[in-house]
Amino acid sequence: MLLSRFPRVRLGHLPTPLEPMPRLSEALGGPEIWIKRDDCTGLATGGNKTRKLEFLMAEALAEGADMVMTQGAIQSNHARQTAAAAAKLGLDCHLLLEDRTGSHDENYNRNGNVLLDHLFGATTERRGPGLDMNAEMEAVAERFRAEGRKVYTIPGGGSNPTGALGYVNCAFELVGQANDRGLVIDHIVHATGSAGTQAGLVTGLRAINADIPLLGIGVRAPKPKQEENVYNLAVATAEKLGCPGVVAREDVVANTDYVGEGYGIPTPGCLEAIAMFAELEGILLDPVYSGKGAAGLIDLVRKGHFASDARIVFIHTGGAAALFGYLSALEGIGRGGDVPVAAE
Ligand SMILES: *Cc1c(COP(=O)(O)O)cnc(C)c1O
Repeated sequence: MLLSRFPRVRLGHLPTPLEPMPRLSEALGGPEIWIKRDDCTGLATGGNKTRKLEFLMAEALAEGADMVMTQGAIQSNHARQTAAAAAKLGLDCHLLLEDRTGSHDENYNRNGNVLLDHLFGATTERRGPGLDMNAEMEAVAERFRAEGRKVYTIPGGGSNPTGALGYVNCAFELVGQANDRGLVIDHIVHATGSAGTQAGLVTGLRAINADIPLLGIGVRAPKPKQEENVYNLAVATAEKLGCPGVVAREDVVANTDYVGEGYGIPTPGCLEAIAMFAELEGILLDPVYSGKGAAGLIDLVRKGHFASDARIVFIHTGGAAALFGYLSALEGIGRGGDVPVAAE
């Protein structure tokens, strides 16, 4: 399982820390919960797309690209990290942003990740909801190619076998950290969307025969679709890695009970999780992915889904930049807030 066979550019601050969360674990009164800090990958406020981009951008450079394109929701963390990676490597970046939530909120449309996309020098183009965004992107890429540009397109979320290698790498890194400190991990939990993170993790874990159940908490698609997307990508990733067939269908488990009204729309459980992680551990989650992932983790712990002496690793996939796009949803959650000036 030699990842060094694949071209890679160093973009992330790796390895990311693996830390205990004693106050959250105590508040929930159950299993020991650890956190793998992939929100601290370093690039552009961090997040899980950085690991994928190490392999994707290397491919772009190898192909002689002078421009990269990708697509995502308006508050896409993937778009923001791609814009930063392109800036660092001296490539132009063009982003297609889908109005997936229908929000007219000023902060949602201009602040957070959108502000950062533009600071990194990326140009953005908007699309209404419900289109085939990868097809839209390819059409725009053809427009640029007709002008003589060498465009490398990255699918939404960076989720193809090349990008998923970044999470094969994370699986190896996490297992190494657990071995070093003698930590027996009973479960790994994380948010799953475009499927590359879970596909890479399950492939990496199976490739080294680390028998740790992996649970993806869905943020968009229903369970059958989500698991099918992850499984298909894991199969292709295992082939690319040189270990075809290591992932079985039953290795891929997603729980999609925490999506709520839809992608990018925070649920009460998501807001509670954001407040708990912030107030108990000083850790910022996001309202689209890691907040819903943590909401699933918290609810499953409360329901006794995990043994009370289990050790769980929550992989924090990042996304805090989106908090600034969600001011109206987040203001007033938790204990914090202005108090009246005390009278003398
Ligand atoms: C993209 C993203 C995810 C989901 O990862 P996928 O590889 O798309 O499944 C989770 N958390 C955050 C913060 C993300 O930006």
